[in-house]
Amino acid sequence: MTDCYAVVGNPIAHSLSPRIHGAFAAQTGEDIRYEKRLVEKGGFADFARDFFAAGGCGLNVTLPFKLDACEFADTLTERARAAGAVNTLALQQNGTLLGDNTDGAGLVADIKDYLGWAIEDRKLLLLGAGGATRGALLPLLAEKPAQIHIANRTAQKAQQLVQDFSGYGPISASGLDAVPAGFDLVVNASAASLAGELPPLSPLVLATGAWAYDMVYGAEPTPFMRWAEQLGAETADGLGMLVGQAAEAFYLWRGLRPAVAPVLEMLRAELRDKHQA
Ligand code: NDP
Repeated sequence: MTDCYAVVGNPIAHSLSPRIHGAFAAQTGEDIRYEKRLVEKGGFADFARDFFAAGGCGLNVTLPFKLDACEFADTLTERARAAGAVNTLALQQNGTLLGDNTDGAGLVADIKDYLGWAIEDRKLLLLGAGGATRGALLPLLAEKPAQIHIANRTAQKAQQLVQDFSGYGPISASGLDAVPAGFDLVVNASAASLAGELPPLSPLVLATGAWAYDMVYGAEPTPFMRWAEQLGAETADGLGMLVGQAAEAFYLWRGLRPAVAPVLEMLRAELRDKHQA
């Protein structure tokens, strides 16, 4: 019988996950079905119970259900527990559900393996203190950066992350108006780009030769990428993170690591074509 997977969220129509997992399955010769499922807010647990009772093998979970999925899982990976959010549920052989958070691993893989940028011994600045930052912190700290500074519009939320994660490595926090200078890698994990906005930052936050990564992706560079480019930084958007987190989920479900680069290049070309049409 074909194994069934789905991505669940609200909204979900825009999701690229079925394209990505379809491409992974074709590439690895795995026989899977993968669907998009729209669920009403408050309806996650009922949906997930029915999905797994009907023989489903795994779910990807996107906004606004990552916290519900965390509660629904029977056991959590360390990175999901630290994030307090689950983006992947996997049915285990003993019938229990494992909750994982593959977002941060997807980000790290994109930065190191695809872009060829370094994290070890570098000074990192993370903009934003929401779920994406929470999910990224443990995988980033595992790469042994010299420092991670979290800057958020609401400084108190960034300070909370320092309290929660200081046992894992060197982290500090501030509001956006008090960011120190000289970071090697700046990751925009805020939702500012979704609103076409640029977080108010001093150019001094970028060290010479800095890299700038925006978790938001699209056919065009984001305001943050344009700002960093003008200051001489090399830039990237979050499409590779999206494909990277999906590859980690695929590995959790199928035990196989698909090649990310061809799928990323396919999606990039599709985004470009759609934009030009
Ligand atoms: P949350 O809603 O949990 O957090 C949003 C964060 O952005 C908060 O820290 C908020 O600050 C900040 N923010 C919102 N608007 C602005 C603004 N105009 N200026 C400055 N800061 C702002 O979202 P997530 O953490 O889940 O997601 C953040 C971004 O990452 C989203 O754009 C999302 O699309 C992207 N993402 C991409 C992924 C990928 O695979 N590429 C995966 C996951 C997320 P405050 O606390 O002050 O409200």
